[in-house]
Amino acid sequence: MISLRCLPAFCSALALSACATGRPHTPRAAIVPQVDYHQHLVSANFAPIAKHAPRDGKALLAELDSAGIEKAVVLSVAYTYGDERKHLPDPDGLARTENDWTSQQVAASAGRLIGFCSANPLRDAALAEIERCLGLPGMRGIKLHFGNAGITLRDSSHAARIAQVFRLAAQRGVAVLVHMRARGGANYGAEDARLFLDKCVAVAPSIDVIVAHLGGSGPGYSVQNDSVMAEFGAAAERGDPRMRNVYFDVASNVAEETTPQEAALVAKRLRQVGMPHVLYGSDLSVPGGTIKAGWALFRTRTPLTADELRTIAGNVRPFLRA
Ligand SMILES: [Zn+2]
Repeated sequence: MISLRCLPAFCSALALSACATGRPHTPRAAIVPQVDYHQHLVSANFAPIAKHAPRDGKALLAELDSAGIEKAVVLSVAYTYGDERKHLPDPDGLARTENDWTSQQVAASAGRLIGFCSANPLRDAALAEIERCLGLPGMRGIKLHFGNAGITLRDSSHAARIAQVFRLAAQRGVAVLVHMRARGGANYGAEDARLFLDKCVAVAPSIDVIVAHLGGSGPGYSVQNDSVMAEFGAAAERGDPRMRNVYFDVASNVAEETTPQEAALVAKRLRQVGMPHVLYGSDLSVPGGTIKAGWALFRTRTPLTADELRTIAGNVRPFLRA
């Protein structure tokens, strides 16, 4: 069967030959994601915060090339300057500069990089900044980082603020990717998955909502991760309509230290939410040290069938094609 997702424009060199010939199966080792849904760049301002060498769009494209991946979603880290623990002067100005720079980088990628805007939603200026950023070239979604921003949906004022961002995303018809895990992982678990469906997804049911790192934070897959994913998995299995447009990125969840038991749990939860809802992503500090090695770890350690891997690798959401 030729994969319907194997559209010529998104075929990597390897997949392209399969498309052209209609060959039924690419060898398992040749299955490569068409999109990396969780990437970051490192600007001159962010480098000392991330303790990471600068990494611009060109550098990311070279890394994608060596992994055979065509496109990536670049999540602006503008939110990081609004983390009050960092005591930075002019966090809103730094956020604007970061979103502007991210836009410049993705706009120069000939459509291979797609940018997501960000800001710390608890800053007064956040909504206006996200709205401004969505008008910049190449920026087609919103990234929220609850942990970095100090947000918990268990605080009703925070939940109300986040609902505003989701309404804005729905108005603009753009996707939202959320790092849901609360700061430090305290007071976080299954309840937050229920609150997320009630307070966030319910106000923007028509847009793509991507839960990063399988509801946790990488690297690895913890018991807490699984309590969140069990909740989402159960919602998907009972046909909860709010799950229709919810997706999950697996960025850094399967790493060198992942045990076979943890990997089996990952596979179980991915099957519950359904492979068409699973998106591959790397993150800045990717397991194995390179994008290519990170995918090899995920592909070989997670007990999925070749068909399941092929579905994940071929998931290209419409916002990538705009
Ligand atoms: Zn990330």
